Amino acid sequence: MSDIVRTGGCQCGAIRFRLEGEPKDSSICHCRMCQKAFGAYYAPLVAVGEAELAWTRGELKYFQSSNHVRRGFCADCGTPMTYEADDGIAISAGSFDDPASLPPVVQYGIEAKLPFVDRLHQLPGRHTMEDIEAAPFLADVVSYQHPDHDTETWPPENRQKEKKHD
Ligand SMILES: [Zn+2]
Ligand SMILES: [Zn+2]
Repeated sequence: MSDIVRTGGCQCGAIRFRLEGEPKDSSICHCRMCQKAFGAYYAPLVAVGEAELAWTRGELKYFQSSNHVRRGFCADCGTPMTYEADDGIAISAGSFDDPASLPPVVQYGIEAKLPFVDRLHQLPGRHTMEDIEAAPFLADVVSYQHPDHDTETWPPENRQKEKKHD
């Protein structure tokens, strides 16, 4: 039996993880604590369940958000990484290298759902490059985000050179 392996990590790459096997489920949580913890309208979370989770780079920092829950994040870049309760651990869905492979199947905390969330898909949409006249920096933007796959070294060596410009 060959279990499916997924990888992911924080935006800067200081934290990386590996998940082997199918997670329990993928969800979004509308509760006020998740809104705060993610700085977002709701939190996308993948419950690990029986899958095997390994942290392959770096160490999380934690905020104890209640007597039952702590939340792990990258201390270097601030990416929310985990929700950890007595009944298990969940990983932020957007931190997976391939978040499209884990579509949410349930919503939690809907009593706190923000009133406009159900209408987001009706908003007018724009591609990034449509805004290039208003934001010319888009033409030569250089991403410092970790790529969506595991890497040998962190941070990349060429980053040090670039750093002295800012
Ligand atoms: Zn980071
Ligand atoms: Zn929540």
